[in-house]
Amino acid sequence: MAPTFADLHLSNDVLKAIDALGFEEPTPIQSQTIPLLLQGHDVLAQAQTGTGKTAAFALPIIQSVDVAKRHVQALVLAPTRELAVQVAEAMHNLGRTKGIAVLPVYGGQAYDRQLQGLRNGVHVVVGTPGRVMDHMRRGTLDLSTVRTVVLDEADEMLDMGFVEDIEFILNAVPDERQIALFSATVPRRIESLAKRYLRDPQRVTISHDARTESQTRQMYIEVQYRDKIEALTRILDLESPSSAIVFCRTKREVDELSATLQSRGYTAAAIHGDINQSQRERLLQSFRDGRAELLIATEVAARGLDIPDVTHVFNYDIPDDADAYIHRIGRTGRMGKKGDAVTFVTPREMGQLRFIEKQIHKNLRHVAVPTTGDIAARRQEVLRAAIVTAIESGAAATYYSGLAESLAKEHDPLQVAAAAIYLANGGPGGRHEEVSAVEEMHESQPTGPGAMARLYLDTGREHGVRPQDVVNAFTAEAGIAPAAIGTIDMFGDFSLVEIERKAAALVLERAALLHMHGREVTVTPARAKSEAKTAAPPPRDRPKKPRTKPRTGPRTLA
Ligand code: AMP
Repeated sequence: MAPTFADLHLSNDVLKAIDALGFEEPTPIQSQTIPLLLQGHDVLAQAQTGTGKTAAFALPIIQSVDVAKRHVQALVLAPTRELAVQVAEAMHNLGRTKGIAVLPVYGGQAYDRQLQGLRNGVHVVVGTPGRVMDHMRRGTLDLSTVRTVVLDEADEMLDMGFVEDIEFILNAVPDERQIALFSATVPRRIESLAKRYLRDPQRVTISHDARTESQTRQMYIEVQYRDKIEALTRILDLESPSSAIVFCRTKREVDELSATLQSRGYTAAAIHGDINQSQRERLLQSFRDGRAELLIATEVAARGLDIPDVTHVFNYDIPDDADAYIHRIGRTGRMGKKGDAVTFVTPREMGQLRFIEKQIHKNLRHVAVPTTGDIAARRQEVLRAAIVTAIESGAAATYYSGLAESLAKEHDPLQVAAAAIYLANGGPGGRHEEVSAVEEMHESQPTGPGAMARLYLDTGREHGVRPQDVVNAFTAEAGIAPAAIGTIDMFGDFSLVEIERKAAALVLERAALLHMHGREVTVTPARAKSEAKTAAPPPRDRPKKPRTKPRTGPRTLA
């Protein structure tokens, strides 16, 4: 049986932090590495981003830090500033309950802030080799108390020419230290570095030789983390899957994703480890009988359940390893049926994708995230099919031929037909061919700090709401920086808020419903500025998603 976190001899406060992050069980790299590091071994681990490697070294460090001693006890070296910040953040989150102080130290950031942090005393420093060395030379970073050193993404550090810096640093830490070297690949140069600095290192390799055989088309899309929701909804809109499972890594992600999808009009059942068995069965039933079109699940929660064959599996997060991948996609394409499996990969996780591909002896097909044009074309296609069906069945003529005739006497029949289609497609509140503000954001629109969008709020001066209330709600309820908010125009019963595009997307995603002056306020994208300023308030562009029937079977992506 797979070990649990509790089996790994982690302390209670560490287990609490893990639970708060929503990790349900250790990934393979974690279950293999954590015990070795806790026993004090040096470790040479082959693992990519996306396998959970950060927690694999962070948890033993957090467990062993003596919080009462405010000096540097662990040093993590990472190739890039981005990774250093990411690792520091992860360690901060995992060490929060224990009160671990972590400081990222990287080139490009002013020394002042780092010096202040170092003076205050921190337990863990996460840095790029160059900057760490600078601090050592200036005498502002004392490594004499370091007990554990981690070399994260060691192959990349060597590729970037950091080998001398790394050796300089390793020569400065006490002899009695533990070293964990993590690397996606282990070429000779890594072997030789390990030989010189690691003592009797334990090798950890996650190797599998599993093969996939089914009718499932396996695809991946490359997408930035922040664009995942948009990408998923676009694919859902394009494909209209009749049943799909979306796998997420954490419980929290399952909750957040299902809430966002529900707010956008999809019916989703969410299951994870905190949901008890009977509730899970109930939710699963709603998925089986089609009341919920999507099942959002962690891998662990989905494992023991009898889930029917689905048309689509989405790996919203890339799986830890090939076994998990095969297990997840095995939910579709069963018994000779066709299925689609789409894996979301962030640019950083491309290495992990290649690793999985190698293990399953198969390359996933790269597909593009559908464009708004694809979706518009798809909607028209569905609408066209529905109209043709209504004509062919005679139903339209039975009920409306009289009305159609009388309208045709006064108006151009083509205009009448267009108006009828417009109304059938949701009328003024529907989604028509124009591209909504959110969709544009991720495409041709500039996304720099200056790129602004406008949001429409259904509250205004008449409700006693002031611009300050808008700023407060956006910052407190949607987590937006005040600086991202531009001009706020208050009208009688509505307001228009200029806001940076990225922040606008966050507001729409996190807080379609805000509270101001004790009232619930709905936020939607506003129309273009010229239209918005005219008398009538703009229509809501993003109401409940109109479900354009009939649905057809799976279609090709891209
Ligand atoms: P890493 O490979 O360290 O970059 O981790 C990739 C992602 O997996 C991060 O977003 C982690 O928060 C997440 N993660 C790490 N360990 C687990 C786990 N045991 N269960 C679920 N998610 C995890």
